[in-house]
Amino acid sequence: MGVQIRRTGIYVIGLIISANLIGCSTEQIHAKQAKQVPKQLSGETASIDSSGSPTSTSKEAAAVDDLDKAIVETRHFYTGPPHASPPTEGKIAYLTFDDGPSENTRKILRVLKSFGVHATFFVVGSDTAEGRSLYKEIAAAGHALGNHSYSHDYNRIYKSPEAFMKDVHKLDQLLEETVGYRPDILRFPGGSNNHLSWKPGGKGIMSKVARVVKDEGYQYFDWNVSSTDAAAPVQDRDMIIDAVTSASRGKKSIIVLMHDSTYKTTTLEALPIVIGKLQAAGFRFDKLNKSSFTFQFLTP
Ligand SMILES: [Zn+2]
Repeated sequence: MGVQIRRTGIYVIGLIISANLIGCSTEQIHAKQAKQVPKQLSGETASIDSSGSPTSTSKEAAAVDDLDKAIVETRHFYTGPPHASPPTEGKIAYLTFDDGPSENTRKILRVLKSFGVHATFFVVGSDTAEGRSLYKEIAAAGHALGNHSYSHDYNRIYKSPEAFMKDVHKLDQLLEETVGYRPDILRFPGGSNNHLSWKPGGKGIMSKVARVVKDEGYQYFDWNVSSTDAAAPVQDRDMIIDAVTSASRGKKSIIVLMHDSTYKTTTLEALPIVIGKLQAAGFRFDKLNKSSFTFQFLTP
């Protein structure tokens, strides 16, 4: 009993520390974007050179250590000892990250790896050495890559089914060159029922596009749990956690919408806690594939 209380106490302290550590890492991310000098845990300051990169690699290494420590502490708090009870029969969570790759991709990968969780990245076109490298890292870590269109430009892609498929094929081509395969899973920018497509393509455009997507052998996925991380430029971390927790209640299969975007720093902060809470609610995690559970706002 005494040991139990002490262990719980340690976990609580761990969580408080980890919250601070995550906050600190994020502070550094914000600071880097704003080209300000980040405040370090040690009280020292790191300088930023004119390119915006920290001049000290040891400082960067320290920040990485902080994130890893935060992940470990959060994981222990929510999942308990290594041989905790197995996931509840049949409850499955598909975490999805849209719009990457970005400056946050590697950090998201690190969190997922630390929890042993596989997810799905609905990526857009990023034909640079860094973009190509990130596609490869996502695939090499065992996650699924899905097509989210090359340009993500509503006025271009939703003009017609032909315009949409041209854009999708352009990304397929890039992914085939980099990771060696063309994804057969897809997410529409804005979701299958978005109204922003009406201006370029008319009111019935999404049905027509969805029909062609299916005819060409793709499966498309909307979501039944939104993290709400797109509801504000930088959504409050606790709003993200609460949104996922409450929307997943009572559901057996969930597809969780999140974003892999440089400015979505709170999604990254929320991620270890979101995973921990879903695990505690009995969910196991998997990546999407063509025959997975799907959730579609609109069926063609
Ligand atoms: Zn998107």
